[in-house]
Parts: sequence; structure tokens; C-alpha cells
Amino acid sequence: MNRTVGLVYLSELRAALSSLAFHMLSEMTKAYGANLHRVTIEKGEIKNWDSRSFYPSKYAVLFISIPYELMYKDLSSFLHRTGIPYFSKARDKEPIVILGGPAVTGNPLPVAPIADAVIIGEAEDIMDQILDIVNSDYKRPEKLGKMSEIKGVLVWEEGYKTERVFAKDLDESFYPTRQTLPENIEPIWGRAFLVEVSRGCSRGCLFCMEGRIFKPFRYRSLESITKMLSSAPGGMDSYEKLILYSLSFFDHPQADSLLEYLISSKFKASVPSVRVDTLNDNRLELIRKLGQKTLTLAPETGSTRLSKALRKEIYASQVEQVVESALTIGLQQFKLYLMTGFYGETKEDIEDTVGMINKLGAMIKAKGGKLKISLNPFIPKPFTPLQWHGFAGMNKLRRNIQLMRAMFGKKVSSFSALDPRYARLQTILSRGGPELSKIIALWGQTEGFLSSWRSVSLRQELRESQYLSFWDPEYTPLWHKYIIDHFNKPSVLRELYLAFLDVQNRLPENS
Ligand code: SF4
Repeated sequence: MNRTVGLVYLSELRAALSSLAFHMLSEMTKAYGANLHRVTIEKGEIKNWDSRSFYPSKYAVLFISIPYELMYKDLSSFLHRTGIPYFSKARDKEPIVILGGPAVTGNPLPVAPIADAVIIGEAEDIMDQILDIVNSDYKRPEKLGKMSEIKGVLVWEEGYKTERVFAKDLDESFYPTRQTLPENIEPIWGRAFLVEVSRGCSRGCLFCMEGRIFKPFRYRSLESITKMLSSAPGGMDSYEKLILYSLSFFDHPQADSLLEYLISSKFKASVPSVRVDTLNDNRLELIRKLGQKTLTLAPETGSTRLSKALRKEIYASQVEQVVESALTIGLQQFKLYLMTGFYGETKEDIEDTVGMINKLGAMIKAKGGKLKISLNPFIPKPFTPLQWHGFAGMNKLRRNIQLMRAMFGKKVSSFSALDPRYARLQTILSRGGPELSKIIALWGQTEGFLSSWRSVSLRQELRESQYLSFWDPEYTPLWHKYIIDHFNKPSVLRELYLAFLDVQNRLPENS
């Protein structure tokens, strides 16, 4: 390929190097034979790591990864600073701007008019087709027209719907076995080789977008992982550890054998947050032997009632048992993720959570360990059964956070909570439509974050309540009109939502 391809990560290279998507796109593009320039934002400045400068007109295409919605501001600022017109329809020359990542796979609409194309789903199986078109002699309008014919590519200007695309077989799919880490840059998660063990999740927690937009659950075979580690070009000596990627690690049928292999091969590794109900003494021992210091769990709540309603189905007694076993074998650091802001969540639910955390805190403290709590306001996300659920409201969230902070007290060694103002904005961006693209474009031209959103949205007379309220379950959210997803049909999600309302046994006040 004789054209230059830009891979833009809207944060620092340190963060990009800890992103599997960044390595994946870099290596796929290089494997295609393209001249790749990696571009990041360092201390607010655009930095090209493969050339001295960044001139947009040099690029045939820019791939920009958007892991979460608040990054829309960074996207817009990037376009503003590079002089690339904000809207696809205002562009008449290269580069073609292609977005991808979880945020836009869930709901591309707020930025769809800004992008020339959006990859809906996973890029592996369609990347070569996209690059063929980029590399062709077609003019820009024909290129976009051709791209809109690829399953998994949404071209807003063409006005078509598309189907979410996913890699059928991870063993057969491309994997970045060369993950280059520059000498002088320390990635945020350390000098690690990233191993994607599985993708998607077979569980059905009602609030979880990742579990849904990466369906179906697929895994890499033990054979293919061991082969990858033993034959990676450049070997494993330059990495200090492995980071195992998975939404639900122990749902991999060979998870135990994989950990045993890593231990016997003297790899240091860390497993991600694990479901409490998949842990047992043997697995905890394997995790410890791998050299992992912190056990990360996400029970979300200590209330049995709420956990059942959310279909998370992890209970306080299970968490307590796992923590006790972990302490017995010498694991001492724990991180727990909790959520608040659900319809029908009661004072008793919060008290149950406080009861669980206080009990865990006392057990862990007695053994000299540490318990960190991360509390997140619930954000209703597209393609989940709770996509109709409203935002809990600032007062309620602030109250719940304050209550938990006070009641956990000194039992926990650290407590952090996402500021509800960010959760509110994320809700707007998650549930918005193309009408937000103009506001996002203006937002990127301003300094500040929350305050600048506020002033731009006020100036544009945006009625934010439409994105924050509970939606009528009869209404089908707009993203279903543009994205076909056979695993997450609106009718199925709706049934699950109605069942949730039923269990919670009250109608939302503003519905
Ligand atoms: S919260 Fe975890 S277990 Fe539940 S669906 Fe999401 S990834 Fe799966």
C-alpha cells in the first residue's frame, strides 16, 4: 500500500500502549503493508510518533478509537486543531475519518455525522476490505459508497443501516503478537504483553453494555495462547508480565489449565476483575502464584434482592467467603466495584451494601490488608435491557455516595466515586442522537469540560431531560434503527426491562 494511514489515540502513548485495540489496529495495518503513523495527544499537543509532524492532508485515512463517550470532546478538539472539517459532508478530500470502539459500537449516532464511517463491532474480519477501498483510485464519494456496502461499517451520509460485525473464531483471527513498547515510555499498566483470553460474555447482567456488544462469548484455545507466547516475534523477554484480557475470565473452559501453564512457564500475570461465583480455593491459589497482588471483584451491590433484579446474581455471602479464602492464602489487597442509581434501589439495599463492605473491611483490616472501593453511578447504556432506564438524578446520587462514603468510614483504605456530573453527561452522550453532533463540534472548540458542555448546550437550547428521563418501553431507541444486532433485539431487551420493572415493583416516578 502506498498511502499513509494514521492511527489516532486521543490520549497519551502510555495509555495507548496498554490498549489491545491500539496494538491490534497498528499491527493489522502494518500487516496489510500500509505506512502507519501513530498519533497521540501528549500534554495537550498532537504528537506523531512516526514522523516529525502531523499534516492531515498526508493521510489517506485516520482511524480513531473511542473507548468511552466522554472522549467525544477529545475527538472534536482534535478535528478543531488539525483543521479537518467537523462534519463528513463538509469534507471534500482526504483523510477519511473512521471511528471505532465500544462507545460508537453501542451508539454511533452522536458522532455519526462527524465520522466518514464508523466500524460497528470488531474490525479484524473487515479491516482488509476497508484498506482496499482506502488504497483504491476511487474518488472520496465512491470510497464512502463502497465502504457502506461492507457489513459492520456505518456511513451516515449514505443513510444505510448496518449489522454489527464480530470475529467468528478468535483462533483464526488476527492477533498482534508483536506489541512494540518504546524503551523510554512506561505504559500505564507497565511493560506488559496483552493476552486476550476471551471476548464477549455469556452472562446477562442487565446494565452491562460490554457483555452485550461483544456477544457471542468466544475464547482463544489454550493451544493457540501457548503457541502465541512461545512463538511471538521478539520473544517475551522484553515484557515484565502478561495482562490477561477477558470480561469473564473463568468462563473460559481451559482457564485453570492456562494459569497452570503460565505458572509452570514462570510468567508473571494478572487476571482482570473476576466473577465471584467462578472463584474457588484452587483458583485463588493459582492467582496468587501468578504474582498478582490485588484481587478485583465487581459485586456491584451487597443487596441480594437488587443483585437478583439486575441479573448479576452475586451475593454478599459469596463475596465474604471468597475474601476469607483469599486472606487465608495470603492475598491481602482487594478492589471492589459497586454501583448505585437503579430504579427501585432502596435504603435497605444500600444498608446491605454497607453491611457487606463493613464486614469485608473488618476481615481484611484484621489481616493487615487493604480494601479499595470504587463506586460508580449507573449509566443507562444502549443495547442493554436498561437502555430505557433513566438517570437517577444528581441529588439522589450525591446522597447515596455521601451515605456510603460516611458509612464505610475507616473500614476501607480508599473510596472513590465517579462525580455524578460526569455520569449525567455520559448518559446524555450514550443515549443521544445525531442532533448532538453539532454540540459536540462546538464543545471541542472550547476550554474546560463540564462547564463548556453546559454553556454550549445552553446556547444551543438542548433539552437534556429527554436523554435523562425514563423512556416508554414501547419506544424503540434510535440506534436499533441503524444497527442490526441479532444478539440484542429490541423485543428481547424490552422483555428483560419490563421484567426488571416488575421485580422492582413500582413504576418510575417520571414515566
Ligand atoms: S457485568 Fe461482567 S459478568 Fe455481567 S455481563 Fe458484564 S462482563 Fe458479563
